[in-house]
Amino acid sequence: MSSKDLPVGTGAAVGLFGESERSLVWTLARKGEILVVHFSGEVDENAGLERLRPHLEGRVVFDLEAVRRMNSAGVREWVNFVRNLPQVSELVFERCSPTIVSQLNMIYNFRGPARVRSFYAPYICEHCDVDVDVLLDVDTHFPDRDPAKVPPFQCPKCGRPLTFDDIPERYFAFVVQL
Ligand SMILES: [Zn+2]
Repeated sequence: MSSKDLPVGTGAAVGLFGESERSLVWTLARKGEILVVHFSGEVDENAGLERLRPHLEGRVVFDLEAVRRMNSAGVREWVNFVRNLPQVSELVFERCSPTIVSQLNMIYNFRGPARVRSFYAPYICEHCDVDVDVLLDVDTHFPDRDPAKVPPFQCPKCGRPLTFDDIPERYFAFVVQL
């Protein structure tokens, strides 16, 4: 960690450290003029996102690789949260977990004003029988925003082509809107 990205604050949705189990945790770090918020855990009715709102201003990136689960109450809270960030001038989602990708596909206003920069996609190597979550960059891997064009990757172990482990038109459906 460089001196430029020291954490500037942390938050917890439920309780304090050592108290009842927290469903969602966030960490704020400043990288130059960009504020990066790393979320981890589950988004549910106890997410407490309104406590995070006052801390967000200017250019903001949400790092979403560690969001594991969302229930319907959490989705409602999230949608209300992202559409009401009056001090945020630019919002970017990056490293979206498969859970976030599902919501992007199901809930039309899930990202609010955010741009989606990158997300994880499930691939497998049938030769090695391993799952590989590949990080896809929207501009690099979907320049045409065509969900049917699955980006090709090679197995890091054996070098054979990986197989995409979902239905492209379903998993990548949201890229059309980006
Ligand atoms: Zn392999």
